[in-house]
Amino acid sequence: MSTPPRVEARIDHDALAHNVELLAGLARASGAATMAVVKADGYGHGAVDVARTALAAGATWLGVCTLEEAAPLRAAGITAPVLSWLHLPDEDFAPAVADRVDLGVSSRAELDGVVAGAGRAGRPARVHLKIDTGLSRNGCPPQAWGELLDAAETARAAGDVEVVAVWSHLAHADAPAHPTIDVQAGRLDEAWRAAGERLGGPRPWRHLANSAATLTRPDLHLDLVRPGIAVYGLDPLEAPDHHGLRPVMTFRTRVALVKRVAAGEGVSYGHEWVAPNDRVLALVPTGYADGVPRRLGGTMTVQLAGRRRPVVGRVCMDQVVVDLGPADGDPPGVTPGDEVVLFGPGDAGEPTALEWARWLDTIHYEVVTGVGCRPRVTRT
Ligand code: PLP
Repeated sequence: MSTPPRVEARIDHDALAHNVELLAGLARASGAATMAVVKADGYGHGAVDVARTALAAGATWLGVCTLEEAAPLRAAGITAPVLSWLHLPDEDFAPAVADRVDLGVSSRAELDGVVAGAGRAGRPARVHLKIDTGLSRNGCPPQAWGELLDAAETARAAGDVEVVAVWSHLAHADAPAHPTIDVQAGRLDEAWRAAGERLGGPRPWRHLANSAATLTRPDLHLDLVRPGIAVYGLDPLEAPDHHGLRPVMTFRTRVALVKRVAAGEGVSYGHEWVAPNDRVLALVPTGYADGVPRRLGGTMTVQLAGRRRPVVGRVCMDQVVVDLGPADGDPPGVTPGDEVVLFGPGDAGEPTALEWARWLDTIHYEVVTGVGCRPRVTRT
């Protein structure tokens, strides 16, 4: 019999499939295809498994940020189109081109690198030319667009690239009526028309919509939508009905020890919490090394034996302490090995990723990607 994990991010693939079916259904109604964004190890959910479920549920594309994130998808035998969009200047594109990874291209220099990679790979690279329509992150500034199109046409005519799409990313998609959205959509349209005039070959696709725009702006679905957070069941707009999405991740652990402490005893480093009377405590074997932020000590609650219970004292690297109540009260009904839910869908009263985000004054994106699933930073 194998021991259950000490701490676990349990992934509900039925919920994931439900979310992708919902999003792909919205896209299909507009005639658009769906790219499931699986960067950052599938927002902390495990990119390869997420990709498989998403493709089975109606997504036909995958999106990642980096080439390092694209490679494991191909190594796992996934053949669906994969778009990668953030590259360093000295990137070797040849393996990605050989693997038929589509490449977001934001500049003339990046295009030159891609063309060189295509030469080494011995096949044309599939590129998506990115225009910066107002987010001011990557993407070609409009004033350099003509030059990028000229270079792309030269590379296309030489058989080095196929221009698959012209695309961009929104700054205010989570405010569906924000005036910059239409400004950005207009700039994308202009850039796409210019591409149509300048480039030979098939007319490129256009894509712009992330989760929020997929859910609220069917007019911006264009040829392809690129939802990320909604795939994982988290609503970027935080609507009361969550747009029908089902959260996918449950972050849970188990009680290691139940013990009594006497009135006046300090608990955890710095004794920031002192037992007001004789108490029963549960030791829970997870901490900031697993993605439970240290600053949640004294704020967070967990779901344990059917109830919310407070974490008392500081969150440590691998341990937190949960207060189960006064020692002379009703027995807490908690024994070592019991499940402790840190966050989940919220159906059984447990905290949700959104509740964590509010405790932390951040967004649920940061909560799920912070759950210890991301490869550790390499130290050299
Ligand atoms: N497209 C691009 C270029 C992105 O960077 C992201 C994520 O930041 C997405 C799509 C998905 O965004 P969201 O998770 O808000 O749906």
